[in-house]
Amino acid sequence: MLIGVPKEIKNHEYRVGMVPASVREVIAHGHQVIVETNAGIGIGFTDEDYQAVGATIAPSAEEVFAQADMIVKVKEPLADERKRLREGQILFTYLHLAPDMPQTEDLVKSGAVCIAYETVTGAAGGLPLLAPMSEVAGRMSIQAGAECLEKSNGGRGMLLGGVPGVQPAKVVVIGGGVVGTNAIKMAVGMGARVIVLDRNVNALRRIDAEFGSQVETVYSSHDSLEKHVISADLVIGGVLIPGAAAPKLVTEDMVKRMQPGAVLVDVAIDQGGCFETSKATTHADPTYILHDVVHYCVANMPGAVPRTSTFALNNATLPFIINIANKGYKKALANDPHLLNGLNVYRGKVTERSVAENLGFDY
Ligand code: NAD
Repeated sequence: MLIGVPKEIKNHEYRVGMVPASVREVIAHGHQVIVETNAGIGIGFTDEDYQAVGATIAPSAEEVFAQADMIVKVKEPLADERKRLREGQILFTYLHLAPDMPQTEDLVKSGAVCIAYETVTGAAGGLPLLAPMSEVAGRMSIQAGAECLEKSNGGRGMLLGGVPGVQPAKVVVIGGGVVGTNAIKMAVGMGARVIVLDRNVNALRRIDAEFGSQVETVYSSHDSLEKHVISADLVIGGVLIPGAAAPKLVTEDMVKRMQPGAVLVDVAIDQGGCFETSKATTHADPTYILHDVVHYCVANMPGAVPRTSTFALNNATLPFIINIANKGYKKALANDPHLLNGLNVYRGKVTERSVAENLGFDY
């Protein structure tokens, strides 16, 4: 199979569908790869790096789309890219179609076979192609929060770990899933006092088993949330109710009662945010201060560390890419119910229930 890797064209998107090591791997399986010139340049991979592992370099996206049997990307295709898709061509990337009618209509019209990273499921549960970005965002949330706590950024002027003889910061993590666990790992590593709240007792058990007495696990209720949030120095919002908007667990009243200079990092902002006072921000202007509390609400946190994010994403996508290329999409989808869950649009039909229901397509 000929696999195509175009350069991402979304504003400030530096990630790339395949790193050279992944290209080398699929070529070893007997496939070919065509990469758009400079596709990996934003994360330090030159055309020569791709050529060295056997890829062909194409001068334009048109050429990649025209030739490839399967397009491997990171972000959803923009209108210009959608025009280039053709009947029976495989598109493997993040799509997030449910709120996006224009994209869904174009993908349906294209006749392409569109498999979305975010709905591929894992044999052990969970969403294996979404998890790497949650790992990145969870780890970054502590890095971002620590910076916001600095006085010059509007924070309380505290070091997360304190120093000998001086109390560390109190970090409250809401949601003990992938984001929460990775945030905890960083906060514990930096010597903070860490409290995690979750509604799922099994999530709390898992964290207790992993971190022992380094983390206090608390069942999430209105009462416990209020108590811990208003006394926190840094709060990380990492809750998820699959398929739904994030619940507004921290009310504006609680935010008003927080300590001046405390920090909120709302990782769940991509699902609407779990703090009532959150509004989405960008890497160019990531924070704002409301009620004396610093808010960091960047919706695409992994975009700040595209090199790490690309490797993390590739580690998860590569087995699926090889499987589709080896078997062809019909057999690969028929043999793997988890990959099949990723199929969102198939040759002119929406095949993902929540996308169809949300946008009024037949299912
Ligand atoms: P996850 O499913 O692994 O974990 C979510 C956790 O929230 C679960 O343990 C669940 O029990 C818990 N939860 C649900 N309701 C709760 C409540 N009322 N109180 C306390 N806990 C509750 O999800 P995840 O992969 O960790 O993702 C978390 C959020 O981060 C999602 O909204 C995801 O889209 C988002 N995210 C954002 C970025 C970004 O760049 N901003 C990047 C990656 C992920």
